[in-house]
Amino acid sequence: MKKIFITRKLPEEAVVGLREIFDVDMWHSEDEIPPKAVLIEKVKTVHALWTNVADTVDREVIQAGANLEVIANLAVGYNNIDIEAAKERGISVTNTPGVLTETTADLAFTLMLAAARQTGQAERFLREGKWTSWSPMGFTGMDIFGATLGIVGMGRIGEGVARRAAGFDMDVLYHNRTRKTEAESMFGFRYAELDDLLSKSDFVVVLTPLTDETRGMIGERELGLMKETAVLVNAARGGIVDEDALYEALKNGQIWAAGLDVFEGEPIGSDHKLLTLPNVTALPHIGSASVKTRLAMMRMNAEDIEAVLSGRDPENRVVLK
Ligand code: NAP
Repeated sequence: MKKIFITRKLPEEAVVGLREIFDVDMWHSEDEIPPKAVLIEKVKTVHALWTNVADTVDREVIQAGANLEVIANLAVGYNNIDIEAAKERGISVTNTPGVLTETTADLAFTLMLAAARQTGQAERFLREGKWTSWSPMGFTGMDIFGATLGIVGMGRIGEGVARRAAGFDMDVLYHNRTRKTEAESMFGFRYAELDDLLSKSDFVVVLTPLTDETRGMIGERELGLMKETAVLVNAARGGIVDEDALYEALKNGQIWAAGLDVFEGEPIGSDHKLLTLPNVTALPHIGSASVKTRLAMMRMNAEDIEAVLSGRDPENRVVLK
């Protein structure tokens, strides 16, 4: 019987089908990750590894997998996996594109709204018993309706954010490596070079994958091009935005606020320097976290594991562009 190791405790309904045909070993905790030594020990005997964004599946882990046929990642991003090392060994890597698009676009939009209107800060103020009267200029933020939105990485989720922006009468610019002329005419958004997008946008939402090319893509120079009233949202991956540069830009009023779902070294502690800034709205990487979407992502991974272990092609094999 082929063996599967799952690196996190998942709901039983997500694994019950696999248990009927394979030998499934599931990590005992939902929150704790298996230490690297454990991961390496487990991978030595299994045919499938079911991972998530918190697992680092590097060359060392992959090389330990003598029988490994598939790595299924519970995410659309796969920057936590050494794809080249997997390819060299003929191991399929699968992910969960599409199914999390709308849920993550909802969250990106939530961060835009929350950061622009300082809802986190205002709620903390209320809960701390500081609300003593209505204040004429208290918690005055930035308007979303009618503003210019710049999307860096107009892929599936970027388009989801752009579709939502239409309801807010926003003018939408985007930047990609390739232009999407068909979508431009269908949705009415316009292509812009990165510098142009940064200088014109009231909201900049980052939605590219984390790659060698995008790491540090928004740094000191890029933040310097943004408006002093602008809001930056990163709902993609930590590392695309340079956190030191972002801290300085927010502290010095170079930009107005930031909404962050992702960080360079996750999880971050409550002592992270960005959390010392009142104009940061921060979330613990919950972009795809709706019940329906997470279960759908698990179904996709399970089906792809079953496909590969049964000698079929998986639906969602990662192919590097
Ligand atoms: P996607 O459809 O592949 O879109 C990514 C977009 O980024 C593409 O349009 C791509 O266009 C663009 N891009 C890639 N490299 C670029 C570069 N160097 N410069 C400019 N643009 C670049 O992916 P998606 O499904 O929308 O997901 C996007 C990312 O969101 C994922 O990779 C993942 O890391 C992140 N994500 C985060 C969460 C969360 O929980 N916060 C949830 C889901 C996804 P070109 O190829 O034309 O450049």
